Amino acid sequence: MRHLIYSAAEKKDKGENITKEGAMAKLYASEIGTRVAMRAIDIMGYDGLTEDFPVERYLRDIKLMEIGEGTSEVQRIVISRQILGR
Ligand SMILES: Cc1cc2nc3c(=O)[nH]c(=O)nc-3n(C[C@H](O)[C@H](O)[C@H](O)COP(=O)(O)OP(=O)(O)OC[C@H]3O[C@@H](n4cnc5c(N)ncnc54)[C@H](O)[C@@H]3O)c2cc1C
Repeated sequence: MRHLIYSAAEKKDKGENITKEGAMAKLYASEIGTRVAMRAIDIMGYDGLTEDFPVERYLRDIKLMEIGEGTSEVQRIVISRQILGR
């Protein structure tokens, strides 16, 4: 995840087009974040779902990242179009 973000940022700094790399970084980082938050809730069991602990908030916050600024489905369309040259 970090490598995808840093390499996209490096290309951007060089003035290169990062349509594909940016979409890949956004897609992977947001989905990994959701997976990590889900695991945290799994580990905590019921406590993970209550508002007594911050992990339920982490899940809602990171899930938003899969939706805002282009949903994961849309990122996949962007990436495939870049790879297929359409
Ligand atoms: C944190 C956050 C910040 C936001 N900030 C802004 C902002 O500053 N300005 C702004 O204008 N909006 C903002 N939004 C709104 C955001 O851009 C939209 O929620 C997002 O584009 C999805 O649109 P929608 O909610 O209408 O879902 P829909 O477009 O109705 O999509 C519903 C579902 O269908 C899927 N889908 C839609 N079209 C396709 C397709 N062609 N192929 C496959 N799947 C598809 C989507 O991936 C999604 O899973 C923000 C959202 C969030 C969560």
